[in-house]
Amino acid sequence: MANLNPEKTQMPVQNPDERNKNFDEVATGYTEEMATDEAQRCLNCKHKPCISGCPVNVNIPSFIKEVGQGNFKRAYEIINDTNSLPAVCGRVCPQESQCEKYCVRAIKGESVGIGRLERFVADWYMKNIEPKPQKPEPNGIKMAIIGSGPAGLACAGDLAKLGYDVTIFEAFHVAGGVLMYGIPQFRLPKEIVIKEIESLEHLGVKIELNAVVGKMISIEQLMEEESFKAVFIATGAGLPSFMGIPGENLCGVYSANEFLTRINLMKAYKFPEFDTRIKVGQRVAVVGGGNVAMDAARCAKRLGAKEVYIIYRRSEAEMPARLEEIHHAKQEGIIFRVLTNPVRIVGEHNFVTGIECVQMELGKMDESGRRRPTVIEGSEFILDMDTVIIAIGQSPNPLIKATTPDLHTYGWGGIITDDSGRTSKPGVFAGGDAVTGAATVILAMGAGKVAAAAMDEYAKRLK
Ligand SMILES: Cc1cc2nc3c(=O)[nH]c(=O)nc-3n(C[C@H](O)[C@H](O)[C@H](O)COP(=O)(O)OP(=O)(O)OC[C@H]3O[C@@H](n4cnc5c(N)ncnc54)[C@H](O)[C@@H]3O)c2cc1C
Repeated sequence: MANLNPEKTQMPVQNPDERNKNFDEVATGYTEEMATDEAQRCLNCKHKPCISGCPVNVNIPSFIKEVGQGNFKRAYEIINDTNSLPAVCGRVCPQESQCEKYCVRAIKGESVGIGRLERFVADWYMKNIEPKPQKPEPNGIKMAIIGSGPAGLACAGDLAKLGYDVTIFEAFHVAGGVLMYGIPQFRLPKEIVIKEIESLEHLGVKIELNAVVGKMISIEQLMEEESFKAVFIATGAGLPSFMGIPGENLCGVYSANEFLTRINLMKAYKFPEFDTRIKVGQRVAVVGGGNVAMDAARCAKRLGAKEVYIIYRRSEAEMPARLEEIHHAKQEGIIFRVLTNPVRIVGEHNFVTGIECVQMELGKMDESGRRRPTVIEGSEFILDMDTVIIAIGQSPNPLIKATTPDLHTYGWGGIITDDSGRTSKPGVFAGGDAVTGAATVILAMGAGKVAAAAMDEYAKRLK
């Protein structure tokens, strides 16, 4: 019997007043009963519009049908056909602007909780099934991947399944890219990413950590001296942008990138058990309105800040963060100051003491399709602060471009590719944030998969 409830089955979450003091996962996941109930809200409609909203084309109605019948293993297999990181995507994909946006149930209520179901299936599988990876017949051809974020991992998985000898080169001492160093534990437990990476290693993928391509070895050396037939650049967009306003060099100003890396990768929240420290004052301003800003603000709160502000120059409707993250941040006590733009960070004796802002109003549409914020003259004011975290965007690190002749890039640093990830340099492919600029996990994975197919075609043509 179809479940006609217009609302999604509620996701159990930790109480906001407790969770804003710990780093445990906020949403605790569906039980088998809840998942089966929610799956029965799917109408399995003829045109299946949800699939076209998924950048990796997961066969959503089929996997949900299996969940509805209690066949969780089969549901996992269907998802895993096209998505190698379902436990990650079920947690962090912006479903409201992808698969769930096109769900027919959303016309007269809430869409089916596709992300919640994907997460349930992936978690159920991890808990109940011992993976028996089938190593494919090796073809002896070496493929190099630079960067171990979702783009690199997805590309590696597809190439390994085709029998290639795949090595990932990763600059950090831990694999996973933003999944490990950026997104906090309370949204994406690291054990999940580690398990997903282990399943790639079972397929034969090798990961070389602490390997900065462009410093220790160049792409040309990988191809000419180490006989890699093709290379996939998946180095992400890890270079933080700053506002260029006075006071950004004061002590107490962080880029969100550094702040989150210290917390997530270096486990600063477990000091002194781990060596890295982080100083967060009583009043913290986070500048920006995306997922990165929400993560930084929620981490600051968990590290003991009394008042944490999101300072954003447009209105809440224009915030690029996932709706769920905005909702959770508010529940946890983060204060939103929208239509507010910093013009100066104020300090004394080289330390932050405040942030000077102006009030904004929304004008005409700009090239991004959003209403342009303009300054209200004479609206300056100062908010007292101890810490300021800048989360206004990231761009690709210029190292690869600087050390790879003939690799064409845009002025802002993104690598230029065709639709299948081919760059201007023969045998060199690229995808993910290194090409698009800061985007999403699932788009990076989609790019990794497309490039894997193109690299396979390229290698076959060289034979
Ligand atoms: C804090 C934060 C929160 C986010 N939240 C979400 C979310 O909720 N949902 C969502 O969909 N997206 C989110 N995103 C965006 C998403 O994580 C990225 O779009 C995605 O990770 C990009 O994947 P990627 O593989 O291209 O790059 P990355 O994940 O950045 O991985 C690139 C990897 O390459 C390595 N590398 C870089 N240069 C070199 C080199 N020269 N040699 C060797 N290795 C190198 C880096 O160390 C890194 O490990 C978030 C991003 C951040 C920063």
